[in-house]
Amino acid sequence: MNLLSIEKIEKNFGGLRALDNISLQIHSGEIVAIIGPNGAGKTTLFNVLTGFIRPDNGQVHFKGQSILGMKPHRICRLGIVRTFQIVKPFLELTVLDNVIVAAYNRLPSLTEAKKKAGEIIEFVALDHKRTALAHELTLPHRKRLELARALATDPTLLMLDEVMAGINPTETDTLISLIREINRKGVTILLIEHVMRGVMALSQRIAVLNFGEKIAEGLPEEITQDPQVIEAYLGEDYNVA
Ligand code: ADP
Ligand code: MG
Repeated sequence: MNLLSIEKIEKNFGGLRALDNISLQIHSGEIVAIIGPNGAGKTTLFNVLTGFIRPDNGQVHFKGQSILGMKPHRICRLGIVRTFQIVKPFLELTVLDNVIVAAYNRLPSLTEAKKKAGEIIEFVALDHKRTALAHELTLPHRKRLELARALATDPTLLMLDEVMAGINPTETDTLISLIREINRKGVTILLIEHVMRGVMALSQRIAVLNFGEKIAEGLPEEITQDPQVIEAYLGEDYNVA
């Protein structure tokens, strides 16, 4: 089933065309990666999809319903949730309280929100940090907290913006398994990622953005051999292994 339909999105910032006629279909249950150089428009696309930025042109449908012009919290209630490239927890709250706040968005009672938060913290393996303040966490732990906060809202579509940036290979592997597990539970995943090991381990399809345009879309093995993608982003010496 077609879960998210992005049609001909255009966004200009002054004279800069950040998104130029971007179309992309995301099917239910998929893991799709968006890759491309810095400044290509990846985060701007996420901002459009989650209601933080209104595009100049185009349409976005989620489960057949137009979501353009909706406020972020309403889009979140419909089931689209994103993490931020610069993680944004409530720094003076504990890990547990951060996740409770997120869960409370969707659940009718605090008791239920607490229960849900506890389960999710365990799932992302932050149990030992539940009483730590968010500002005390290391970057990898903050990334997992960010994931936990997103999951607490019970997403249908989870959008991850560079969750693997700045962390070591072991922690990357932990995130890869977590994301796989989340997907196995039925959550569709759209990820922006520079860590190609993560992209190749997870994605069933890849879209490539460059200067606001989608220059390629296809299976991972097609994308990594596409001369235009190699030229714009991956580099001559890119090697999937
Ligand atoms: P990416 O996530 O692919 O690195 P972005 O979507 O963050 O790229 O940015 C795409 C382009 O749009 C960049 O040139 C960036 O400087 C510009 N840009 C992004 N957000 C804004 C904004 N709010 N105002 C002006 N320019 C912006
Ligand atoms: Mg970005």
